[in-house]
Amino acid sequence: MIIDSIQNGIVIDHITAGKAMELYNILGLDKLDCTVAILKNVTSGKLGRKDIIKIDREMELDWDLIGYVDPTITVNIIHDGKLVEKRGLKLPERIRGVLKCKNPRCITSVEQELPQEFLLTDPAKRVYRCIYCETEAGK
Ligand code: ZN
Repeated sequence: MIIDSIQNGIVIDHITAGKAMELYNILGLDKLDCTVAILKNVTSGKLGRKDIIKIDREMELDWDLIGYVDPTITVNIIHDGKLVEKRGLKLPERIRGVLKCKNPRCITSVEQELPQEFLLTDPAKRVYRCIYCETEAGK
């Protein structure tokens, strides 16, 4: 893996091929003013193909959000040119503030200030349901 170009930053590795843009958008990386590199369809022994995102600065990440997009991801934190942390992701139990309930009769559609919250109800199928009305979240 190519991490030597980053002195202080984050390498999001082992993204399922084709999912880099979804992750880029959901994490709001377009709002960063530093270099963000998206590598698509990188050859990877284990998975065949993968995507990689490199962020040229240190920042807080929403681990639940990354795990939701793709639990196969590994996040590498680089500090002073060294790998200081390697972190695997898993599917989060709860997702707050990202997904929106599609049910027009859900209380969150009526009371907009209520926080949107979804619970993982079927880990095998990666199904999340609204905690208020149990409508399944669409991807
Ligand atoms: Zn709902």
